[in-house]
Parts: sequence; C-alpha cells; structure tokens
Amino acid sequence: MNRTYRSLSTACVHGGEALDPTTRSIPTPIYQSAVYAFSSMKDVMAYNLGVEDGTEGYMYSRPMSPTQRALERKIAALESGEDALALSSGMAAITTAIMTLAKQGDELISTDMVYGGTYSFLKNKLPELGVKTHFVDTRNIEAASELVSERTKVLFIETPTNPDLRIANIQRAVEIAKKHHLTLMVDNTFATPVNQVPIELGAEVVLISTTKYYGGHNDLIGGAIVGPRSFIVSARKTLKIFGGTVDPFAAYLTLRGIKTMALRVERHNSNALRVAQYLEQHPKVKRVYYPGLKSHPQHELAKRQMKGFGGVVCFELESEKKAVEFVEGLKIIIHGLSLGGVESLISMPVYSSHYYLTPQELERVGLNNRMVRLSVGIEGVEDLIADIEGALERL
Ligand SMILES: *Cc1c(COP(=O)(O)O)cnc(C)c1O
Repeated sequence: MNRTYRSLSTACVHGGEALDPTTRSIPTPIYQSAVYAFSSMKDVMAYNLGVEDGTEGYMYSRPMSPTQRALERKIAALESGEDALALSSGMAAITTAIMTLAKQGDELISTDMVYGGTYSFLKNKLPELGVKTHFVDTRNIEAASELVSERTKVLFIETPTNPDLRIANIQRAVEIAKKHHLTLMVDNTFATPVNQVPIELGAEVVLISTTKYYGGHNDLIGGAIVGPRSFIVSARKTLKIFGGTVDPFAAYLTLRGIKTMALRVERHNSNALRVAQYLEQHPKVKRVYYPGLKSHPQHELAKRQMKGFGGVVCFELESEKKAVEFVEGLKIIIHGLSLGGVESLISMPVYSSHYYLTPQELERVGLNNRMVRLSVGIEGVEDLIADIEGALERL
C-alpha cells in the first residue's frame, strides 16, 4: 500500500523519521515542551477556530507535539495507514477511537475475547452513555451479520486473543463491515505489523497498545490509533477533549523500541514456536494453545492471515495447584503481568488478566484455573526450555 520500503525492518529503522531540522540529530530528540509560539495572529485565529487539521504546526502539546508526531508517522508507515495518532496508553487509544464514533443510541459489535480493559469499557461503561455492545464468538465472526441493525456503527475485533490465542477471520470481518457500512476496528497488539497488517486486508482502523511489542522493553505505557487521515483528524479532536496525551519521553522510548521491533518479533516468533513444540510433547502438560502448532484448531486460518504466530503461548497443567507451583518454580522466566517485552513473563489468567470474570463466566468463555500464559521473550531458547523443564520436573 503506502509503504516506501520493501522490508518492514527498514520501515522500523527509517520509517516516518527525518533528520532533526535544526541540529541534524539522527534520532528524533525529546521535545520536552508544552507550549510553542504563534508565528502570527492568523495562527492564533486558526487555533481558536479549531480549523487546524492537527498535522500542521505545534501550539500546545495536549493534541500534538514533535516527538509524538514522529512516532505517529512511523506507526502509520508500519501499519500501512494514511495517518496515526499516538496516545498515553492502549486503553486511551481504544476508548478515544470508539468515543470518536459512538453516539447515544448507537450499537457496536465486538468479538467476545477482547482485552479486559476493552471488555469493561464496552460492557460496563458505554451502556451508561447509551451505547450498547453485542458480543460475538471470536472464532465465528460470521454470526456478526445477524447482530447488525441500523444502529450498528462499529465492528471491533481482536486477533489473536488473550490468553488462549483464538483467531478472528479478518477477511470475513472486512466483508461484513463493507456490506453493512460499519467501521472495522482491529486491535493488532498481539500480532504486530511484523506478523499481520489488518489495513492491507481491508480493515479501516487499527488499535495498538505500544506498551507491548512496539515499546518491547517493559518500560513504557503507550497506545496508537491508525487509519484514514479524516478519522485521525477526528480522533485527535477527541483526544483534545479527553486528554490521553503521550508524554514526549514515552514517545521517544517507543520510537527507540520500534527500531528493533522486526528483529525482536522474529525472535519472539521462533522462540515461542520452539517452546510450544516442547510443551506439546511433555507428559505433564495437558494442552497447549499456540496458533503456530498444527494441533491449533484454527492453524490453517492463522497461516493464511499471519506471517508469524507471535510470542504468547498458553498451556494447561494437571491442576490449579500444579500451575501455581510451576509458575513459582521458574528461575529465569519472571512471574509478572503484561507481554511483548524482551523478558519472558508468565502469569495465570484467572488471577491476572481475567480476574474480573466470575467462575461461571470463565467456564462460558472456556478458561480455567489450570492455565498459564507465557509471553516468550528474546532470551536464548535453550535457557527458557531448561527453565521450563526444571520447573516441570519438580512438580
Ligand atoms: C495491553 C493491551 C491493551 C491495553 O493497553 P495498555 O497500554 O495497557 O493501556 C489493549 N489491548 C491488548 C490486546 C493488550 O494486550
């Protein structure tokens, strides 16, 4: 599409950035400024009237600042979007994107296994504002067609899902959205553009928690919206009201992280596949969920829409007690939330990402207390497998 480079690795390094115009600094500097001088009264009036499209000139850093803008250009290049908006967190990106479109009386359709914060927003917060969300099985996106009414505005999907790596068919979602004139939004956090580029498959808007693979070092919180320029201009107006602005330092860290994202994600992919294959043949492991395994029920679909299968592996041990002992018995892999960083992290979804669900809801969505979610880092895979082997032996 609008990619300037043949390889995503090149876009990670060079995309969206130019030499600093005043100093020729190669890395984009941290512009630690809140306010910029007007050049004329005409500028002031343009600002007052809100006619600026949000891409020309800097005045006040809530809607836009220079380090943020460089990050936005880079993310747009990577996700094949016309433009992007960088924000303070993945949740700021998701809520800002939805609040840009949803009005009282509107309806949304979402896949059922979305990120916990997204689920709370759709299920609990939006109804207070008169916006209703219907949920559809991630693996059966066709069923969304039956939920469409004249009030439906948005089709929201997340793929692969947290924690058990279900796949939503992006192509099908595009067809449904086109047929019913819905805006298709895809949370691409788990896959990253290294593995999947939803806009190239026809999605309109992509949402990202840059906290995860984009930043990649477990040292920042950030998010982004990618889409058509007109949508990004509107979303920036929403950001101006809600104020989920990315700090210049976090924007800088994200830019720095992105330069190695293609390399890192390739290593996450290969390490995770090796770990998943190892776990699958181990007698103490009951079940492994990883879209790169032939045993994954949607492996063929995953192969069609993804170039690699990502760094998250989910698996089940014999009992809750064994799962707890396993997590606590690891020496290199760290017991912690989040994913997508260079360090391997492990957690039990029922006690972390999905703690908000009741036992009945867990059962209904197919999660249980024997499951562990491993975000495979970029360490040497021999060390990770030895760590897992040791903890399994001690069970
Ligand atoms: C982490 C995450 C989010 C939320 O991002 P924050 O940066 O924590 O606000 C949204 N979607 C997915 C898939 C995530 O993993």
